[in-house]
Amino acid sequence: YRVWETERVRTTCPHCGVGCQLNLVVKDGRIVDAEAAPGPANKSLLCVKGRFASYDFVGSPERLRTPLVKNPETGEFEPATWDEALDLVASRFADLKERYGGEALAAFACARSTNEDIYLLQKMARTAFGTNNVDNCARVCHAPSVSGLAATLGSGAMTNTIEDVTREADVIMLVGSNPEEAHPVFGMQIRAAVENGAKLIVVDPRDIRLTERADVHLKLRPGTNVAFANGMVHILINEGLVDREFIEERTEGFDRLARMVQEYTPERVAEICGIDARDLVSAAKLYGSAERAPIIYCLGVTEHSSGTEGVMSLSNIAMVCGKLGRPGCGVNPVRGQNNVQGACDMGATPGDFPGYQKLTNPEVAEKFERAWSTELSRVPGLMATECFPAMVDGRIKGLFVFGEDPVRTDPDTGHVIKALEALDFLVVDDLFMTETARYADVILPGRSYAEKEGTFTNTERRVQRVRKAVDIGGDTLLDTDIFTEIMNRMGYPQPHLSAAQIMDEIASLTPSYGGISHARLDGTEVAGQGLQWPCPNRDHPGTAILHVGSFSRGIGAYSTAEYREATEQPDGDYPFILMTGRILYQYNACAMTGRAEGINEVAPSSFIEMNERDASALGIADGDRVKVASRRGEVETTARVSDKTSPGETWMPFHFQDGNSNWLTIAALDTIAKTPEYKVCAVRVERA
Ligand code: SF4
Repeated sequence: YRVWETERVRTTCPHCGVGCQLNLVVKDGRIVDAEAAPGPANKSLLCVKGRFASYDFVGSPERLRTPLVKNPETGEFEPATWDEALDLVASRFADLKERYGGEALAAFACARSTNEDIYLLQKMARTAFGTNNVDNCARVCHAPSVSGLAATLGSGAMTNTIEDVTREADVIMLVGSNPEEAHPVFGMQIRAAVENGAKLIVVDPRDIRLTERADVHLKLRPGTNVAFANGMVHILINEGLVDREFIEERTEGFDRLARMVQEYTPERVAEICGIDARDLVSAAKLYGSAERAPIIYCLGVTEHSSGTEGVMSLSNIAMVCGKLGRPGCGVNPVRGQNNVQGACDMGATPGDFPGYQKLTNPEVAEKFERAWSTELSRVPGLMATECFPAMVDGRIKGLFVFGEDPVRTDPDTGHVIKALEALDFLVVDDLFMTETARYADVILPGRSYAEKEGTFTNTERRVQRVRKAVDIGGDTLLDTDIFTEIMNRMGYPQPHLSAAQIMDEIASLTPSYGGISHARLDGTEVAGQGLQWPCPNRDHPGTAILHVGSFSRGIGAYSTAEYREATEQPDGDYPFILMTGRILYQYNACAMTGRAEGINEVAPSSFIEMNERDASALGIADGDRVKVASRRGEVETTARVSDKTSPGETWMPFHFQDGNSNWLTIAALDTIAKTPEYKVCAVRVERA
């Protein structure tokens, strides 16, 4: 008879940015299953992570269930009441602010949490802390997409939708993106498009599974994207495959671009990129002669010291061919975490209020000061990757980390630990005892996506509902209540608002979210399809395709960025290039997927892919234990020997604590967006 107590709660997958819709099956107050639901991006599909790793972690016995305060004498964490923990957090941050100013504090937002959580976190930083040192993990992934697409097109987001780029495309160009592992349901739809006749160009230093279906695979040397893109434009111009009308009516600076790319002949580009010039010409002709061809890209473009330039160079390709503002076209960054798009939209960035409204714009700053009834700092803050050196040299004394684990995920782990140890006060708000939380003074147990109401914004700018399915018991608090209480205790009074009320506040201050509310998302008009921003008012249906008729910035601007080498090149001591990335089964630092038993059985630990020629020269066989060292650290892991990577190149997943690749990676930063160069550092490999 207890079957009658089973219910299904429609919500959004907590893993990647595709934003698949799923039903959490709840029985007797526990989530016992997850089923695919029909969503606009997923068409009733789920990948292994959404299907099998979206609920075990929610009720895991390893969840933090009470606030913890570190005993300074013993270094051990001891349980505390919420009043004790929150009073301590508020008084220590207030004291640091009093002594050193708000600029000595910083906050990192969780890109897996809801828009409503993230909005309040950045509000807490800007009002109670008095700083714009607030950022999110887009800084270590797609921040160059925000800066690069905003500079060239005007909006730092995916231009089109998953549906139109897979259903309408004649040719799909994938650059530095492995969607069948990192965004699997998008990957499935790309594969289906190719099986239905679309041509495929893969631009990637590794053989990904979709390479087997590619018409052209440009197996670039890591770090040479800008040379590739400039070479494409060179060929498109020479072959007469550019759209002169589009160029003249909608863009500026084409002549300067045309002059710059003259030097990027197919032969020169082939030499820089380590590819065959004929393949580059084939790719350019295939893309240029297609009526509809989207560029879909990911971290293989952004995670370079030239990441923003790489993104801008992709905009060049689409603009010279007039492949923007139409279905089946565009420049489409695939965002990594479920709500990293929302984290940027919500203003968890050091230079922008919510909706990318510049804090240096006096009218915007005054609007927020009026709405929040306080004076705000107008000095752009430090980006997250700039905060770590600032902790080491004492400029930042206090840090609030919400749902991120930089010890696992940021480059050069040794430096991250040194930075955290230098802090006067560290607070971590998380679900589990993470590697970062071990360095905290106070740990606050927040709630997961299945224990709260809210919204996520997927990679297509689509705002979708997150719904509460269960309570897990214990002494956890809603994260919005945690931030509200800290604001109250730091002398910035705030009412406790529901998630729906917080979204109303967001809409009232953020033009691109102006028409979005929980009531609308839950209503029959939207009918479970979400709303894509810009959605400026309550009658607006949302915007599927950006830049129709004109660019968000008015006229499209070309980049004339030249190719430059990655920061660290292999040499005699460290002869291999290391790239890092994601695998299908695990997600980021495994906090959620690592609690699903079946997932851990198939993908339990780290490995390094290396070319068979290199392995053979070093006497390494497939499955051997190896030591991998860079100038920053050393780890032990397992060798996977194949020809997926080219000779001289290696690849590791970044998910795992054992053999964590970030002990090796370099914190060389993109010159504009300050995103680390995870895709190129120099390593040595030897038998363990
Ligand atoms: Fe979740 Fe992404 Fe898989 Fe969809 S593709 S089920 S959003 S992890």
